Amino acid sequence: MRKNIKNFILGALTFLFFLNILAWSAVFNLSQSKFLEVNFFYIGQGDSIFIETPNKEQILIDGGPDSTILEKLGKEMPFWDRSIDLVILTHPEHDHMAGLIEVLKRYKVDNILWTGVVRDTAEYREWLEVIENEGAEIKIARAGQRITLLNSNIDIFYPFESLEGQESKNSNNTSIVARLVFGENSFLFTGDAIKSVERKLIKAEINIDSDILKAGHHGSKTSSAKEFIEAVSPEIVVISVGKDNKFDHPHQETLDNVSGIKVLRTDLMGDIKIISDGIQLNYLQIFRQVL
Ligand SMILES: [Zn+2]
Repeated sequence: MRKNIKNFILGALTFLFFLNILAWSAVFNLSQSKFLEVNFFYIGQGDSIFIETPNKEQILIDGGPDSTILEKLGKEMPFWDRSIDLVILTHPEHDHMAGLIEVLKRYKVDNILWTGVVRDTAEYREWLEVIENEGAEIKIARAGQRITLLNSNIDIFYPFESLEGQESKNSNNTSIVARLVFGENSFLFTGDAIKSVERKLIKAEINIDSDILKAGHHGSKTSSAKEFIEAVSPEIVVISVGKDNKFDHPHQETLDNVSGIKVLRTDLMGDIKIISDGIQLNYLQIFRQVL
């Protein structure tokens, strides 16, 4: 009798043990995905792009003009996840940088990539302070750098040389231009790079051909030259722009230059999520707020 009880307990423990393994492997499978997600958040007039790789590497390019980014991240990331692998500031202007300052105050960021361009604003000084306090590895961007992720990589195309320490009144033309490649799919991020930068990239014969193009400078006519759009030859153009903004972005000239191409606009669609399995692209329009 006693032996029977012992066997029963042993059997039950073994059963529980395997049940535990099953439960953990289910959790593990859930955390693995075969999809790369690129979220173009609607944060008003500005840019903020959140990338999550199939291996759950998280990259945030720009943070928009205010703390709206915190709500957006809160909905994309699980509540217990308080860290971001890499933050990229394309250029130190308010509509890209202000939200990142809020993110750096609240999340643990492991790596920061930016240009080191100098500006004379209180917000810029706050940026310097928060990145210094973050304890992250800070890198200054220049062409030729490659950020190697597990199944994807990000190549830096611009600026051609380090701009660290250079003063700039309007830093749009110092924007980091980078391309993310995952399998057969590619995304070109341009910050607020203007036409002269676009021309330099074409002249340097850099392979800028990409499936998705984030149009430069919120669809302003100062970016998205016809020859640049032709060189990138995107399947989809994303314009990150605020509704009824004072600059009248996106300009008609830009919309004309991308006619015939699928255009996704955050002012009309809200948050936009593009999903890639490395071969095919799909996009979702996410209504998270009444625009
Ligand atoms: Zn901007």
